[in-house]
Amino acid sequence: MKDCLFCKIIAGEIPSTKVYEDAYTYAFRDINPQAPTHILVIPKKHVASMDAVEEATDTELAACLRAVRLIAKQEKLKNGYRVVSNCGPDACQSVPHLHFHILGGQQLADRMV
Ligand code: AMP
Ligand code: ZN
Repeated sequence: MKDCLFCKIIAGEIPSTKVYEDAYTYAFRDINPQAPTHILVIPKKHVASMDAVEEATDTELAACLRAVRLIAKQEKLKNGYRVVSNCGPDACQSVPHLHFHILGGQQLADRMV
């Protein structure tokens, strides 16, 4: 989608540090990491948020979750990790293209809010 930051990253119009890619999914390091390992996993198809997942196929959605596991292995997050998807204003979603944060590499806070 035109004017979508993450669509531009997928298209290579904005640089990113790629950690994983397959037919349906792209993953890259967050520019403002909140943990030693902070990666964003996104569907290549533009989907605005979790609230719009009916616009994606089951294959496209499942690919993101399968990618999370593969990336966690690749990044050697042996002791665990957190997967977060902010949806909408109350969750402070700042980029309107569905994304899953992978956070790890240290003991994370035991509360989200
Ligand atoms: P959210 O606030 O859940 O929508 O997450 C958006 C995330 O995208 C934030 O953690 C930002 O740091 C990250 N971000 C924004 N622009 C870029 C970029 N150009 N490259 C990598 N990560 C980005
Ligand atoms: Zn997009």
